[in-house]
Amino acid sequence: MQKKIKTIGVLTSGGDAAGMNAAIRAVVRACAYYNVACKGFYRGFEGLIEGDFVNLSARSVNNIIQKGGTILKTARSDAFKTKEGRKQAYSKLIAAKIDALVIIGGDGSFTGGTLFFKEFDFPVVGIPGTIDNDIFGTTHTLGYDTALNTAIDAIDKIRDTASSHNRLFFVEVMGRDAGFIALNAGVGAGAEEILIPEENLGLERMLESLKRSKRSGKSSSIVVVSEGDKTGKNVYELADYVKENMPEYDVRVTVLGHIQRGGSPSCFDRVLASRLGVKAVELLLDNKSNIMVGLLDNKVVSTNLEKAVKGKHSINKELLRISDIITT
Ligand code: ATP
Repeated sequence: MQKKIKTIGVLTSGGDAAGMNAAIRAVVRACAYYNVACKGFYRGFEGLIEGDFVNLSARSVNNIIQKGGTILKTARSDAFKTKEGRKQAYSKLIAAKIDALVIIGGDGSFTGGTLFFKEFDFPVVGIPGTIDNDIFGTTHTLGYDTALNTAIDAIDKIRDTASSHNRLFFVEVMGRDAGFIALNAGVGAGAEEILIPEENLGLERMLESLKRSKRSGKSSSIVVVSEGDKTGKNVYELADYVKENMPEYDVRVTVLGHIQRGGSPSCFDRVLASRLGVKAVELLLDNKSNIMVGLLDNKVVSTNLEKAVKGKHSINKELLRISDIITT
């Protein structure tokens, strides 16, 4: 017979993402609703190893649904990558009488979570919280929609100055391994070119496209570039390359950086966080474990945690074609 869950722990791990607070709130409130105690661990797996936690009641999470960042703080923990570190975390969880854990984070956090489940048979459920949207088993991760809206807002502003001065702007957005932000913000903001890690479209093609834009009467252009785009050049080198080959353009670079992480979560992220947080608790109470909750076809579904890490969430390449057509 499986153990009755009386206390659930929750933590945020990896990079912060808008909506993490809304997810913490949903987990805590669902625990209160089902008469289960809830404890929040600080600084991700670091807090787990140190046994650094706080008791969370329904009223502990008042007024946080709209806040960016995470009230539980987040961290990257090298110690948790070792068996010794995870053993220590397990003993702290047992000492704190925690029966199950909700991990809000990205694929690294889920890798740690699934190891923990296997080594100690400790129930874990993951909630995808990362702005990169690179998790299999969900169309959206927490923070992605907010990051997109922030990126679009910034690119719109850059376009004002680009068109006033007849400039070409390279705008770097986040995404070392995944082009979700670049592709969707690029299409949404009407970027002339979009460079992503998944596809090497080549420098020549970019140049040709910019020349075509110029010939067609456009006096300014925006190129959205993922941090990890496949051309092999960083955003400054790309700008230099275009300056050399198109001296007629006044070329500038803007790196959006960490503004994409922070800020108040969008309504979409708040609703998603609320749905996933409640479902995570309900699944644990139903003795389900080693799974991630996610959104597919607008339904909350669960995916094996290892599969969520190993599976590939692919970008919609059709958007590249759409982008070509709508920027003619
Ligand atoms: P983001 O997508 O925002 O980077 P993430 O969860 O992928 O989020 P990581 O830094 O990769 O962020 O992982 C967070 C933490 O998960 C690490 O600091 C580490 O404690 C744990 N972790 C990552 N990989 C492993 C692993 N292979 N084994 C055990 N723990 C791991």
